[in-house]
Amino acid sequence: MTLTASQLDPAQALVDEVIESGLGWTRVLSPRQTLRIIDLEGNQAVDTLFYNADDPTERYSAVDTIREQGNLYLSVGTRLLSTEGRPLCTITADTCGRHDTVGGACAAESNQVRYAIDKRYMHSCRDTFLLTLANETHGMSKRDLTANVNFFMNVPVTPEGKLTFEDGLSAPGRYVELRADMPLRVLISNCPQLNNPCNAYNPTPVRVLIWA
Ligand SMILES: [Zn+2]
Repeated sequence: MTLTASQLDPAQALVDEVIESGLGWTRVLSPRQTLRIIDLEGNQAVDTLFYNADDPTERYSAVDTIREQGNLYLSVGTRLLSTEGRPLCTITADTCGRHDTVGGACAAESNQVRYAIDKRYMHSCRDTFLLTLANETHGMSKRDLTANVNFFMNVPVTPEGKLTFEDGLSAPGRYVELRADMPLRVLISNCPQLNNPCNAYNPTPVRVLIWA
C-alpha cells in the first residue's frame, strides 16, 4: 500500500471544522475543490456518501468503482464513480492506506444482527444520514441512501469471500484527501458505533478541511 502526503496548507483552507462522533455533516464542493478528512484520534470510521450536487439521483456507486479499478479498497488514484459511470471525485492524498466500501453503514438492523438484540436502539450511521439529509437538504431522504465509503475502516475480505471487521490501520492525524470532479455533495456520518473493533469501541471526532 502506498501512502501519499498532501502539500496543502491548513492555514489556507476555506473550511476547517470538527465533526464529533455521532454527528452528521454535509457540504457542496465545486469542481476541483479538495476535501481533507483527518482521523484525529485514530481508527475512527467515517461513513460517507457522494452525490452530483446538481442532480442527486446520480450518486456514488461502490460496484462501479470497485469493478473499474479492479480493487476492493480505496486509496490514492481511486476515482469514485457515479451510478452514471462518471467520476464524482478522486483520492489525491492518503496517509492511512486502507478505506472500505463493502462493509456498509451501521443501522438498527445491522446492530441487532452483528452485536445483540438489545443494540437495536443504539444510534447508528443510518440515523445520522437520515437526520442530516432531512435538516440540511431540500427533499433528499432515505431513498438517497446507498452503498457508502467507510474512510479509515479496515474490513478485509478473506480468501473464502467473508468480511471480517478488524482493528483499524489508521492512527491519530492520518488523513485522506479527495478532489471534486463535478459539483459534489458530500454527506458524512461520523460513526457513533460502540460495538465494533474497527474503532476500538471508542468513536472519536474527525476534522474536515476544504480548499478552493
Ligand atoms: Zn456507523
